[in-house]
Amino acid sequence: MNADLHCHSTISDGTLSPEDLARRAHAQGVSLWALTDHDEIGGQHQALNAARALGMDYLSGTEISVTFAGTTVHIVGLGFDIDDVALAEGLEATRGGRELRARHMADALLQVGIPNAFEGALKYVSNPHLISRAHLARYLVEIGKARDLPDVFKRYLAEGKPGYVPHQWASLGNAVKWITQAGGAAVIAHPARYRFNPTEEYALFSEFKAHGGIGVEVVTGSHTVAEYSIYADMAREFDLYASRGSDFHGPGESRIDLGTLPDLPSGLRPIWDALDHRVHRFAAT
Ligand code: AMP
Ligand code: MN
Ligand code: MN
Ligand code: MN
Repeated sequence: MNADLHCHSTISDGTLSPEDLARRAHAQGVSLWALTDHDEIGGQHQALNAARALGMDYLSGTEISVTFAGTTVHIVGLGFDIDDVALAEGLEATRGGRELRARHMADALLQVGIPNAFEGALKYVSNPHLISRAHLARYLVEIGKARDLPDVFKRYLAEGKPGYVPHQWASLGNAVKWITQAGGAAVIAHPARYRFNPTEEYALFSEFKAHGGIGVEVVTGSHTVAEYSIYADMAREFDLYASRGSDFHGPGESRIDLGTLPDLPSGLRPIWDALDHRVHRFAAT
């Protein structure tokens, strides 16, 4: 099964529309797809309709920004009811602080001699409710401050760098609750990306489970091959379903294209087994 359950459209910080992403996923052989925009479900009906038109199975998706132990953690939600009101309100509250945060990041960048970063970033924003560090980063590449997005983060936007501004996102408990009460499954996104010590990581996994979370991304564009094994072991240790997703943001920007990741390591329970009843089935059988 070629499942790709993590990617971003212009509704958040990707560069393709939900429809273009659907076409690309389908062309890459994806048979089960989910669009998971940051703190947004505004593209879900478009994604669902595009998947239907292409005959590709679809799971609803989002990626919620969470603050846990002072660090930003991402929780992917899959298979929820797209029209759930509490989820929509929770996401709206979560993304609400993004504009002011971006203005503060632009102020911080001004201190290191980079003016107009907020206005510059806006040129790359399609959804005015969702300005992300990726939009600022595209502008910094445009004006020659770094060679590509990873380079911008390393120099300016990662934690501890001059343009970084701390931010309070949703709580872990709320994020998991919004997803699960809307009928979906909560999944820890790209766990290797967090700079946790083993104690903090154990706390994340056990609290996530205690709140009702059931999955973890094992094979993701954000992990190395060695990390696939590490988090396969974590999935087994914590008895979690495993997920797979490219985290594709756009052509020329993402290392891993839609649908091109290796299969999940054997012996893991795929998250789509837990979401069988939530899949919108459009593929010819
Ligand atoms: P935000 O949600 O505004 O904090 O922005 C986070 C987004 O920035 C991620 O979802 C990626 O799209 C992007 N990002 C974070 N770190 C990096 C990196 N090292 N290289 C490229 N993009 C990154
Ligand atoms: Mn992103
Ligand atoms: Mn993420
Ligand atoms: Mn993502």
